[in-house]
Amino acid sequence: MCPKCHEPLIVVEFEGVEIDYCPECRGTWFDAGELEFVTELGGVPAGPLHRALQLAGPGRGGTRRCPRCRRKMHVIALGDSPPVEVDRCRAGHGLWLDAGELVTIVREFAGNEDAVVAGFLADLLRHGLAEHTGRGEL
Ligand SMILES: [Zn+2]
Ligand SMILES: [Zn+2]
Repeated sequence: MCPKCHEPLIVVEFEGVEIDYCPECRGTWFDAGELEFVTELGGVPAGPLHRALQLAGPGRGGTRRCPRCRRKMHVIALGDSPPVEVDRCRAGHGLWLDAGELVTIVREFAGNEDAVVAGFLADLLRHGLAEHTGRGEL
């Protein structure tokens, strides 16, 4: 179930990674470690993103529920220009990204020289979504 609009999530496979996607609000759920893995496939170094996830701390209490354990997630801030607020399961199941946040995060952590790669990754994901859903929107 989507943490935001409570519609059933669909599974989109991308390079062997199963990403849960909400066709209604276009949000995406990444199990723990999947976001770093997917961005690394796009040529974005996983280190800075991994550190940002660790440094984000516990965050503040949110209202959305983890699709895995159904408990309320916490809101954490990633990056600083400006920060992207994402929902993270306190039990470590993963991260929920609203529509558009994945692309923002990839661009944030890609740095200038990798911006082309980040765009390429975003395009690949959109392509995967279009194949599965007929909609290529993130
Ligand atoms: Zn949704
Ligand atoms: Zn959970």
